[in-house]
Amino acid sequence: MIYDLIIVGAGLTGLCAARTLLKTGHENISFKILEARDRVGGRTQNQHFQLGSHSTVVDIGGQWIGPSQNNVLNLIQELEGLELVEQTWVTKKSGAGEPGLYEVLRRKPLTLEENQEVIEINRRLEQMALLLTVEEPFKCEQANKWDLISIGEYFRQNVKYENARQELELEVVSLTACSADKLSLLYWLIFLRSIPGGYTSLDDGVNGAQHYKLTTGAQNISVLLAQQLARKYGQDCIEYEQPVQTVNYEEDTVIRVITANREYSCRRLLLAFAHTLLLQIQFSPKLPKIYQELSSSMIMGQCIKTIFIYNQAFWRINNVTNEELSSEQALEGPCYNLFEAPLHNDTHHALIGLIVGDLASKWSKRPEEDLIQAITTQYQRLYSCPDAIPIKTCIQYWPNEIYSGGCYAGTFPPKVLTKYHHLLRKPIIDERIWCASTETALQWIGYMEGAIQAGEAIYKQISQTIR
Ligand SMILES: Cc1cc2nc3c(=O)[nH]c(=O)nc-3n(C[C@H](O)[C@H](O)[C@H](O)COP(=O)(O)OP(=O)(O)OC[C@H]3O[C@@H](n4cnc5c(N)ncnc54)[C@H](O)[C@@H]3O)c2cc1C
Repeated sequence: MIYDLIIVGAGLTGLCAARTLLKTGHENISFKILEARDRVGGRTQNQHFQLGSHSTVVDIGGQWIGPSQNNVLNLIQELEGLELVEQTWVTKKSGAGEPGLYEVLRRKPLTLEENQEVIEINRRLEQMALLLTVEEPFKCEQANKWDLISIGEYFRQNVKYENARQELELEVVSLTACSADKLSLLYWLIFLRSIPGGYTSLDDGVNGAQHYKLTTGAQNISVLLAQQLARKYGQDCIEYEQPVQTVNYEEDTVIRVITANREYSCRRLLLAFAHTLLLQIQFSPKLPKIYQELSSSMIMGQCIKTIFIYNQAFWRINNVTNEELSSEQALEGPCYNLFEAPLHNDTHHALIGLIVGDLASKWSKRPEEDLIQAITTQYQRLYSCPDAIPIKTCIQYWPNEIYSGGCYAGTFPPKVLTKYHHLLRKPIIDERIWCASTETALQWIGYMEGAIQAGEAIYKQISQTIR
């Protein structure tokens, strides 16, 4: 059989592309989704386990949703059966300033002047971002200049106070899982421009991007999407454990898509994953050189997500001051960002710790026991609770996931966008092969919201070629 469309990747982008096909009444179009893993959801992933008599689920991938992320909120409503709850606050000792929805460890307390400088630099960056569009940033005169340096270098050139500079760098690594020195200033501005509301929507407080989460885990969005597709097109419309290894597009009208043990044929092909993964596939004829360069020049953020479960929420008893959060104890441990994760039962409580950037790359090569020990110690010292031992730990090493290559998203170092940005949302092979993912979104690049938007947008592009 020759399918009208094969979609490679059952993450949110691939599934939403297929759902758009369903929604736009293109029911006669034959399609197949090929997924490398044994599950849908890609960079969203639930982990299920039993805690005593409670069956529990935690998110070990993408999780939080902001109130201005309309595509994902609408989708959740439409799919039915998904329940959103608000992220709870991590408590601090009274007088320790505004609590956030999460703690940024390693944050130095700032003087009034330092804090003022952070606000001023962020305001300036937002103003610069407003000069460009996500789709065509190079229409802005300064874009070429901004792509020459990293956001880290921009901070070094423009920030007077050392503590303010460190705070700004921390913000970048927390939001992208990439160190500021690796990211192009232009990429940072495009990323900012893609967030409606800019820094306010990214804030760690209420109404920020971590405002909501799903009680049954974010992967469930993809699970329900897959069920919706299966009801309409049959269970086998998604085939699992079929990592695509070869794409042969020598013939004019048929593309051959080859996995370890099967071969499929189609007229159009959507690769619904980050461009960084293109090099894992062998193309025949070879992928145009410029795409090979794009793929090898982008860099994935790096993050390890950890969930430590305890019998007691000791952090609520011995909660900390801002000074303690930036103390040696907090600095020594691997985690950068710390969230509370109520498990919807009264007997177990959890902390989510995110390890990001270069530290995630480092820890992903070390034995898991060492990481568990390091985080256990970090929390014990941070909350002055030397007896706190987790009863269970869940750790997902995203840098080691072959079919993601890291997270949260593929990003751009200096001097790459200038050469390759124009290719990002174009078909790789005209009217035949496309690549789309949250990285190609126009809003909320790198987020689930972006993936949904990218899936819908790419299907609209592809459908124009189906006559
Ligand atoms: C730890 C972590 C925390 C995050 N936090 C948040 C958050 O709080 N909020 C938020 O909005 N976003 C968050 N994100 C980002 C969010 O999860 C992603 O933006 C989104 O899920 C990307 O979806 P996608 O479909 O574009 O790509 P992916 O999810 O990467 O989907 C690509 C799919 O393609 C498959 N694939 C790859 N190669 C092949 C191949 N050769 N053959 C077949 N299949 C293949 C993969 O297995 C995968 O299923 C987080 C991500 C991670 C990992």
